[in-house]
Amino acid sequence: MPTIVQVAVELSLNREFDYLVPEALLEQVRLGSQVQVPFGRQTKYGYVTGFKETSDFEKLRSIKKVIGGAPLIGEKVLELARWMSDYYITPLEKTLQTLIPGAVRNKDRSFREQLMVRPAARAEKASERAALAKAFPRRSEVLESLLVEQEMLQAELIQQTRTTSATLRALEKEGYITIEKAVVGRNPHAGKQLLPTEPLPLMPEQQVAYEGICRAMDREKPGVMLLYGVTGSGKTEVYLQALAHALEKGQDAIILVPEISLTPQTVERFRSRFGDRIAVLHSHLSDGERHDEWHRLYRGDARIAIGARSALFSPLRHLGLIVVDEEHESSYKQDEAPRYSARDVAVMRGHMEHCAVVLGSATPSLESYQNTRSGKYEMMRLTVRADHRPMPIMQVVDMRTQVSEEGKTPVFSSDLVNAVRDRLVGGEQVILFLNRRGFSTSLICPACGYVAMCPDCSVSLTYHKADQELKCHLCGRQVPVPERCPNPDCRDHRFKYAGFGTQRIEEIAGKLFPHARIKRMDSDTTRRKEAYEEILGAFRSGKIDILIGTQMIAKGLHFPNVTLVGVLNADVSLHMPDFRAGEKTFQLLTQVAGRAGRGEIPGEVIVQTFTPAHAAIQAARRLDYEGFSDQELAFREELGYPPFRRMACITVRGPDECVVNDATRTLFGILGRHVTAGMRLSEPCPAPIARIKTHYRYQLMLRASSVRSLGRTLRAALAEMKWPKEVQHSLDIDPVSLL
Ligand code: ADP
Ligand code: ZN
Repeated sequence: MPTIVQVAVELSLNREFDYLVPEALLEQVRLGSQVQVPFGRQTKYGYVTGFKETSDFEKLRSIKKVIGGAPLIGEKVLELARWMSDYYITPLEKTLQTLIPGAVRNKDRSFREQLMVRPAARAEKASERAALAKAFPRRSEVLESLLVEQEMLQAELIQQTRTTSATLRALEKEGYITIEKAVVGRNPHAGKQLLPTEPLPLMPEQQVAYEGICRAMDREKPGVMLLYGVTGSGKTEVYLQALAHALEKGQDAIILVPEISLTPQTVERFRSRFGDRIAVLHSHLSDGERHDEWHRLYRGDARIAIGARSALFSPLRHLGLIVVDEEHESSYKQDEAPRYSARDVAVMRGHMEHCAVVLGSATPSLESYQNTRSGKYEMMRLTVRADHRPMPIMQVVDMRTQVSEEGKTPVFSSDLVNAVRDRLVGGEQVILFLNRRGFSTSLICPACGYVAMCPDCSVSLTYHKADQELKCHLCGRQVPVPERCPNPDCRDHRFKYAGFGTQRIEEIAGKLFPHARIKRMDSDTTRRKEAYEEILGAFRSGKIDILIGTQMIAKGLHFPNVTLVGVLNADVSLHMPDFRAGEKTFQLLTQVAGRAGRGEIPGEVIVQTFTPAHAAIQAARRLDYEGFSDQELAFREELGYPPFRRMACITVRGPDECVVNDATRTLFGILGRHVTAGMRLSEPCPAPIARIKTHYRYQLMLRASSVRSLGRTLRAALAEMKWPKEVQHSLDIDPVSLL
């Protein structure tokens, strides 16, 4: 009989502690139980992560209390947490905090208990009701209202009939009604009626993919499938039917969607097929709503979880299928510890729970694509659009050949201007895309060369014309636009705005197309929660002719009347200091292009660039995903980059550059003693964004042939490293962004 348990205490120390289980608690303590334990002089919360017969420590203290009934963490999720903690080199306790939403972990927040009112025996008899109506007409009215509904929340009844709780208590005392406590789920979708949808008859390629997924789900070890389907090929319909298959088999399922695509439109597509059997977990839920949705899954009332990253950890017990839509999206990577990739952890969870995993994308990540080439994943292709519409035609405009009347490079090429005018004449809609908000990227003094920089970060300030402010896009600092050059030796007043952002596009478009109705959508115009839906709604209903936006409009949106998409500067993402810049540009162009021509009229895409010959741009134009990927993978292999090598990035930061530099060098020295043949350790250097919020940032990059050797080396070096006080460090395994 094990009487000793290991507990991960809420402390973030990378170890677990042993505790005794007192007789009285033996029955209640289970793997994953949340417990209260003495720790030093304090009392802390923690989770039981294992049972033991003996301990290496002599004087063990006892668990004080077990919180709640059944454990919140299932055995399998605990196993997954252990794997994550090990893989991402993050304390188990910290990992557990990521796995269980705060709203669920927090013991104070329980179900919202409400009072439910129902008619009682005396209300059944007509004679009794007549007597009541005569003696107490007001009470009788209240009762009649209740009889219509049969069941109402006390609060609702009081509000609707303008009565008081005293009146209700009187009715209860006389046996007309009952008032009882009831658990009421806060349904974030309450009050929305959705028309149920039926499965569509599948197209041949969809049918092949669907059957492949079903066959995999019936296997002992289902494995991973990559659903590579061009935009509009009907991937979502395949997911829907595969999810239905899981339900038919009595299994549960998870579908992950990038946060940015988790729009009401998307959620409704799933809810109208599965109704209340689906629970939605996204960042806009209140804590109470999140708590209730989580518990609907935990109780088994809901069988499918849809959500962003963290929905992967839904407490479902009989997982049959996990779908990761838009699997290439970098938002699947968490940008704080544990820096996990939800796509990769999904594959692991699927492996551990013998459940099928489907990764879907129109532009799969090179990691996943390589896994199909090596035979680890199964490849499924959807090559035609579900509606048989042709793919949009992409035209690349070489901006080096474009000259305006003043002899400068214009923001809009003549091709783009003409194309927009044509579309407007035909009453069609246009999307203009630029992945940079604000008016201009920087403010430059032509006299002395002064550039307005953020004093705390190593980036230039962006000019926001609407607010007449300069803003730092990293730390949010805002400063008024200076009237003269701040350089004391210059004081010139002719400022120039270099580069351009969405605000400037909006202004220029207003002049070029004076009769068009133009709207801009970026994080500046959608700060209000409803603004996003309002703008999209107006666009959908044809109240906007030209929608200008950042990557917010690049993904997943479906507007049948959009026939032209203009990309104002494809080079923005191409010149990022990142070995994935080409891959990311290809993905972005393909996704943006996918917004064009989803209706009756064929779509057209115009891409403006200064590097028209770049492989990523040419491949996007030719719709040649596989050609591009094969070529890019050859480079990666030759240069020893992921997916052929595994990579870790260590970022060291602090307020004093010398201290940060020294600490990075010290770690570099220690790592150097641990690296083995075949590993590559890069020289310490300032991060591409060298300073954020007054903190200097240095980086070290380590590459190895396997994650295991990478982990071993890092762990050994970090154990030896003594960090100076003012320095912080973060560790990123399989980084997706190197800024
Ligand atoms: P994807 O997710 O691959 O971008 P969608 O699932 O959004 O594609 O499908 C694009 C459009 O085609 C949607 O309007 C969808 O309703 C429609 N569609 C999908 N499958 C079929 C089908 N089998 N028959 C008819 N229409 C379909
Ligand atoms: Zn800043």
